[in-house]
This record gives sequence, structure tokens and C-alpha cells, in this order.
Amino acid sequence: MAENVLELRSLTKRYGNNVAVNRADLSIAQGEIYGLVGLNGAGKTTIIRMISAQTIPTAGEIVLFGATGERALSRMRARTGVMVETPSFYPYLSALDNLEYYRLQRGIPGKHVAEEALESVGLANTGKKKFKHFSLGMKQRLGLGLALMNRPDLLLLDEPINGLDPEGIVEFRNILLDLSRQRQTTILISSHILPELSNLATCYGFIDKGVMLEEISAKALREKCRACLELQVDDASKASLVLERTLGAQDYEVLPGNVIRLYGCLDRPEQVTQALIQAGVSLRAAENKGANLEDYFLSLIGGVRHA
Ligand code: ATP
Repeated sequence: MAENVLELRSLTKRYGNNVAVNRADLSIAQGEIYGLVGLNGAGKTTIIRMISAQTIPTAGEIVLFGATGERALSRMRARTGVMVETPSFYPYLSALDNLEYYRLQRGIPGKHVAEEALESVGLANTGKKKFKHFSLGMKQRLGLGLALMNRPDLLLLDEPINGLDPEGIVEFRNILLDLSRQRQTTILISSHILPELSNLATCYGFIDKGVMLEEISAKALREKCRACLELQVDDASKASLVLERTLGAQDYEVLPGNVIRLYGCLDRPEQVTQALIQAGVSLRAAENKGANLEDYFLSLIGGVRHA
């Protein structure tokens, strides 16, 4: 099993009476792209700020690359790259000069470092163009370039695609996928743009009002959200026989409480219900189920809510 790059144990942050993050547990294995999903104010930024030492936790533990305790953590933080909001860049400087400024300020050796970072975010050819003339997508990519200057093993990105146009989103996504594939960078990315995350994330953490509701792999989530006909019957074994023998269905699962999820025959639900009834199965309910990421998240937090 892959080593956990990051673990949060019961991590809590209070601001006066407001509990921004409430006993959050989270774990990210090496190489994952972890989508931290939550509405505005859910606590995503606060979590990223605590991991990157921009905010001190009220309680709980952070384990980074297996290390915990402030001294060890601060060593391990050198292996992370962080992007929380758009960093401040000098409007009259070029992309390279801006990164050079930060490289020198942070004492990162090697003139090639800034050039490499620009290369990896697709900004190597921006020449003398001043930052103030960059599109929002370019600005965000420069922010990512800055977070990449130390070639981090773990990248922490807070809402990096917020406000980008569709083209900018695709560009940003492709850069992250390249980093993941080519450098095996582990990535934590927070967002409320769920459809976009689903093109990227290998696992998810859902957070609401500071509470981590669920962590789930993308594969398990796809399974959970798979379209099916959910049948509530009086006798699941009898119903299974009908599904297999009369309808030739193979792809179904039996859940506790005589509930069957049928993944085939979705184009002919009447035939399914009819076959069951004719065989003497008492059918209490039959419902089409299946959800996308957004539906799933909303059902977790208990319906549609606006921040
Ligand atoms: P957003 O996308 O809007 O930033 P978020 O999920 O990142 O949302 P946080 O910014 O972490 O949420 O905020 C979580 C809660 O903590 C909110 O209720 C917010 O008002 C509160 N909060 C965050 N920072 C502070 C602070 N410095 N002082 C007081 N309260 C804060």
C-alpha cells in the first residue's frame, strides 16, 4: 500500500466561538489527487492554511511525510508547494522576473529553477510581457509555477480554478495531470466546481461546516453513483432468481433489507417490475437511482444549500 503523504487527525481550528474546522480526519496516499470539496465557508482554506503553517491549529495533529511535531513538520514543509489565493506578483515585471524575485527571496539556488517552473506551467514563451497584461488563467498558472519552484512532493492548491474560463480550466487541469503522471506529485486541490474536480481527482474528501463528512476514492464514488434500478422487495433471493432466469440479468447487487440494485435492463424497467410481480414477488418500490458528484455531495450535506 502507498505511504500516506499527509494525515490530519482530529484537526480543529476555532476563531472565538466559530469552529472553522471541527475534528477533521483526512489522509492522502502518495500519488493521489485529492479533491477537497465543500461550499464557501466549509473550512477548506483553513485546512490548507493549517497544513502550510499559515494558521496555527487549535487542536489535533498533522502528520506530513510520516513526521509530526512542530520541528519535524517545518522540515517536511520544505517538500510542499502551496497556492492559497493568487499570490502577489509585481505588475510591471515579466513572469520570469517575478519568479526570479521569489527564488532569490526564498534562497532557492540555481538560475534554471524559475525557467523550469515556467516551462512546467506553459509560460516559458511569455518573454517580456508584463504580469499586468496576463489573462487570469496565466496569472493562476504563474501562481502554480511559484508553488512548483522547490519541485514539491506535495502540492496544496486552494480553489485554483476559481474564476477561470473553460479554456483556462482545461490548461490548468492538464498541467496538474502532467505533474501527477511525470513527477508523481501528490496533490490536494480544494474546489466547489465539482464537475471539474471529477475530471481530475482520484479521491475525495467532502467537508461541510468544518466537519469532514466522508473520504472516498473516485472508483468507489463512481460505483456508488452508478445508474441503477433500485428495487425494494419482500424476498430478495426469490427476486434474484427472477432477475437471472427470466430477464438474464447478471449485474446486480443485493443490499440489506431486501433491496436490490439492478445495473442492467435499465432501458426496460416495466419488463423488470412485471416479471417480478408475475413470479409472485411483492414489489414495494422501484426507483431509478444514480447521481453525479454534485448530487452526491448535496445529498451528503442534506439538500441544496447556498453559501
Ligand atoms: P471559501 O471558499 O469561501 O474560502 P472555505 O471552505 O475555504 O470557503 P474557510 O475560508 O476555511 O472556508 O472558512 C471557514 C470558516 O472560518 C468560515 O466561517 C470563515 O468565516 C471562518 N474564518 C476563516 N478565517 C477566519 C479568520 N481569520 N478569522 C475569523 N474567522 C475566520
